Amino acid sequence: MNFRILMTLSITALVSFAMPAPGAETNIPPAFTPLRLGEVKPAGWLRDWCQDAAHGITGHADELDPLFARGWMDADIKATGTGAQAGDKMVGYALEQAGYWVDGAVRLAHLIDDDALLAKCRLRFETVLNRVEAGNPPVPKTNLWLAGEKWGHWPMAIMGRAMLAEYSFTGDDRYMRALERIYANYPQYNAGKKFSLINHQGRQLMNIEVMCEAYRLGGDARLRDDAMTVLRQQSDEIKTRLGWHEQGIAIGKTDVHFYSVPFGHAVTLNESAKLPAIGYLYTGMVDWLRFSEAYFADMEKNEMMPYGLTSAHEHLAGIGPFSCSELCNAIDYSWSAIWLLRVTGNSTYADRVERAMFNAAPSGIAPDFKTHQYFLSPNRIDAQHPGRYKVGGSPSFEPKQFPLCCTGNLSRLLPDYVMHLWMASRDGGLAATLYGPSDTRTRVAGVNVVLATRTEYPFRNDVAIRLSPDKPVRFPLHLRVPGWCSHPVLAINDRPQPVTVENGFIRVHREWKAGDVVRLSFPNQPRILTGVCADGAPFTSVSYGPLLFALPIPTVGNDLNQPQLGVSWQFALSPASAVEVQTQPMPKHWSWQATPVRLNVSAGVANFGNDLSLPPQPVVGMNKPIKVTLVPIGSTAFRVSMFGVVK
Ligand SMILES: [Zn+2]
Repeated sequence: MNFRILMTLSITALVSFAMPAPGAETNIPPAFTPLRLGEVKPAGWLRDWCQDAAHGITGHADELDPLFARGWMDADIKATGTGAQAGDKMVGYALEQAGYWVDGAVRLAHLIDDDALLAKCRLRFETVLNRVEAGNPPVPKTNLWLAGEKWGHWPMAIMGRAMLAEYSFTGDDRYMRALERIYANYPQYNAGKKFSLINHQGRQLMNIEVMCEAYRLGGDARLRDDAMTVLRQQSDEIKTRLGWHEQGIAIGKTDVHFYSVPFGHAVTLNESAKLPAIGYLYTGMVDWLRFSEAYFADMEKNEMMPYGLTSAHEHLAGIGPFSCSELCNAIDYSWSAIWLLRVTGNSTYADRVERAMFNAAPSGIAPDFKTHQYFLSPNRIDAQHPGRYKVGGSPSFEPKQFPLCCTGNLSRLLPDYVMHLWMASRDGGLAATLYGPSDTRTRVAGVNVVLATRTEYPFRNDVAIRLSPDKPVRFPLHLRVPGWCSHPVLAINDRPQPVTVENGFIRVHREWKAGDVVRLSFPNQPRILTGVCADGAPFTSVSYGPLLFALPIPTVGNDLNQPQLGVSWQFALSPASAVEVQTQPMPKHWSWQATPVRLNVSAGVANFGNDLSLPPQPVVGMNKPIKVTLVPIGSTAFRVSMFGVVK
């Protein structure tokens, strides 16, 4: 039975068991629920990367730009030089971008016990708390809800997420009481309003996510009910778009109106994609869940680039070697995919998070976390390819970009990943939902449990988990099997175990004792995949496990914006070629400059276009085959990850 049928049946069963009366809200338990912030901490190479983030932009954003220094503080600031548009007021970009930073920074601070960074975040939280406790709005001189800006409510959603992250760690009641006050009259300010899910205004709705999460963490039920009141006002659009999607399937192709390629703003799409699925948890509206799933399915089928993101020249622009993705999307897409994983339990969403996390994200952030691109791209050849667009920041690595959204938002990347490595499962157990080295301390079935996950994943395919409960305790352990592995191997205390995979997870239900060790192995082979660009040109790409590989074009010294000249890179690959895997030891301190796994493959010389675009047709036969060595795309500043095709 495939997943969709299984989900539909189980959803139908749940709904018929407790069909909500119109307007009354319900609580459908999600498949997975995040652990408290700080219960999962990074280890090994992930900890090294987190520490570099703290030494880089995340730890020092307030020194990079006054907007980060003053956003959410008690000061009147305007978003100068950030691409602010006519009608924008000070509540817009400044608060959005500083909010992103604080949200990522507070999570990172708790994950690596960085007191200095935590102090910076708390200074901003205290300012907001003091204002709200004194009966004022959270932003100086402004009623956020009446600001009149086109997306004035949106920054509060970002700050709300950050406040809930801190609340999840401390349990400090002032945070919850403040959020209840901030959202006290939310439906009143949105009465009768419809916000498109694909335009900027759609991001106003993200406050619904915060209200639902506040309710889940112990806030007043009115938060949930008011959130659903506002979301129900959007049900016409959800229904209409889902109808387009289903008509498209009926005639054998996806209707592009569903996500409106020419008009869909990618960050807005990626943020809003999850909302109907969250709404499903509290209303039982099955069509809302189907809407969110359809979004991910359509993006995957029609728009997905090999490094795990759609193009986003702000808006969707189709697949291509120089189709750029605004860096914000690596974070926003992953956050929404994690939400779908939470709601459905379908491991496919975790595979998508890992693909974006290990490929697109590090290709756009410098290994030392001190510079980043605004627009990253599958191929990057020189300063003109890809070139600059009229809107948005640049494809160069810079300490900050204008607008500053990506500079702030990239701080969320690592902590959002790490904190969801392990989650609580609906059946009272624990789930390994994403992979990477970590140390987890949590409580299961009333017992304190420590899990030490040791792995060099995704550079290696083995994972070892040592469990240390305070006393023997019985609970189910769910172990995700990545979609690219068809024959996972499981051993417990060195005894091989039979493996059954359901919905992408192995479930082991037994009594766990201190010292039990679970070993997983995900054997797989490198894959040469084919696809077609928006302009019709065919391409190949090479993956191994969750990693995408690229031909590196070396830089001049350490200058990430200057490629060496005269390097051959115009190649085509045959999907049938054998690929040789070469491994090297992991470095002592991890950095994406390291390439602990490389692939060797035969490539044929191909003629790319004058604009360096891919050959429009497959190359017949391997012309002058030469052996090329590919490295993870995250280890490259200039590269080719979309090659021509040899047939
Ligand atoms: Zn951005």
